[in-house]
Amino acid sequence: MADLDTITHFINGARVDTTGGRYADVYNPALGSPCARVALATAAEVDTAVAAAGAAFPAWAATPAPARARVLMRYLQLCQEHADDFAAMVTREHGKTFSDAQGEVARGLEVVEFAVGIPQLLKGEYTEQIARGIDAWSMRQPLGVVAGITPFNFPVMVPMWMFPVALACGNAFVLKPSERDPSASLLHARLLQQAGLPDGVFNVVQGDKLAVDALLDHRDVQAISFVGSTPIAEYIYARGSAAGKRVQALGGAKNHMVVMPDADMDMAVDALMGAAFGSAGERCMAISVVVAVGDSGDRLAAALAERTAALKIGDGMAAGSEMGPVVTRQAKERIERLIGEGVEQGATLLVDGRDCKVAGSEEGFFLGGSLFDHVTPDMSIYQQEIFGPVLCMLRAPDVASAVTLINANEYGNGVAIFTRDGGTAREFVRQIQVGMVGVNVPLPVPMAFNSFGGWKRSMFGDHHAYGPEGVRFYTRHKAVMQRWPNTASAGAEFAFPQMK
Ligand code: NAD
Repeated sequence: MADLDTITHFINGARVDTTGGRYADVYNPALGSPCARVALATAAEVDTAVAAAGAAFPAWAATPAPARARVLMRYLQLCQEHADDFAAMVTREHGKTFSDAQGEVARGLEVVEFAVGIPQLLKGEYTEQIARGIDAWSMRQPLGVVAGITPFNFPVMVPMWMFPVALACGNAFVLKPSERDPSASLLHARLLQQAGLPDGVFNVVQGDKLAVDALLDHRDVQAISFVGSTPIAEYIYARGSAAGKRVQALGGAKNHMVVMPDADMDMAVDALMGAAFGSAGERCMAISVVVAVGDSGDRLAAALAERTAALKIGDGMAAGSEMGPVVTRQAKERIERLIGEGVEQGATLLVDGRDCKVAGSEEGFFLGGSLFDHVTPDMSIYQQEIFGPVLCMLRAPDVASAVTLINANEYGNGVAIFTRDGGTAREFVRQIQVGMVGVNVPLPVPMAFNSFGGWKRSMFGDHHAYGPEGVRFYTRHKAVMQRWPNTASAGAEFAFPQMK
């Protein structure tokens, strides 16, 4: 253990180790062995980070928005220079392929590009002469100290959904990254510092539930942004809201792709392969269910089975790998158990990815792609978020039954329809109870200038992430009315004021 690097906290501009003596191993999932250890914060360390952020907040909030934007512009440039360092960290600790990790970094940087436009985004509204001698305006002001708690599956991008917008708005930030792949958080901290962000404005506390609970209960934390699984999202929302905080908590997903009989089948199969098996299915926008309408099912089953069996599985850094390992041994065992349940409950397992060996990485947490046909809504492989490389196919007689099925699902993150019929697509978009919809687009992840968020149990809270919704989340609206005493007073008014 002594020879492993320790991934520390970053508080008030400096790396600090934990005083609590608790650490967790960080694994390289392709090797199946630890590559570092991460400090797990005590409540006192969380308190120190919040205090540092609180002390830094007033000066940062008073820094003109264009000056804050310039810090983010320099940070953007530094991130671009270090993009492959970020991606290599992601592949090492998460397992996804290097090209996929590069894509994650690029999508995170888009949010920084959005955030540098903050002077425009923070402009208020002004109305002259709202009453005689009175002008009125509205403005948005930062909240104070805000915290982000993030999942393992996008260790660079998901924190970047949060802190660039929060900092641009003038807040101070405390990030609690996933303990599975925490290295990228320290590179963010170092580059922000190099870009000129004052110490204390951005802090990282590494840790687990203890650190999360300390943030949820801390009276000086004004808002919590969370991304992770649904049970934890619900917990974060309930506990954070009860403590009087503003909370946005994005949860898990079960994303369906409807394939109509008139769809371009080659396009649909390509889309399904990437969306189901990219990142080993560990994406909140992964397609995990295909709903085959009419006779599309038999055509899809044959093509998908052939392609799934031929997936190239390997170390994410190896050239040609299409899919890396899953994140932990526990995740692999859970996915294998769910595949077993699918078989027991009567689904047809067309491709079984359980017995997957990668030469030279025998201890790695690898799974091949698995494909089920004839799945029904009562099966656990349909009801649970598997979060692995398992694609389930259900059959539906028509688009109306597909919509009914999807709307009855507890999750509502992403959905897609593949069809050549504009009328079918239009009605689908109107009727579907899901936050992000793709028409012949399998992963409709909004760009940074739109906002991201699911419906139903895929999200708790009122504001979606980043984009204009992010600016609203990280600011408070203030309305001002102003009169100057250059007109004679009309005397005391005891009736509720009206415009005259
Ligand atoms: P997770 O819920 O296990 O962990 C997320 C964060 O919560 C981590 O920082 C973790 O340390 C913390 N945490 C875990 N257990 C906790 C507890 N009992 N109390 C307090 N904090 C706790 O999620 P994960 O496994 O890291 O990530 C995968 C999940 O995230 C999937 O369900 C996926 O769908 C979801 N996700 C959703 C989105 C979205 O935008 N909706 C995006 C990415 C991932």
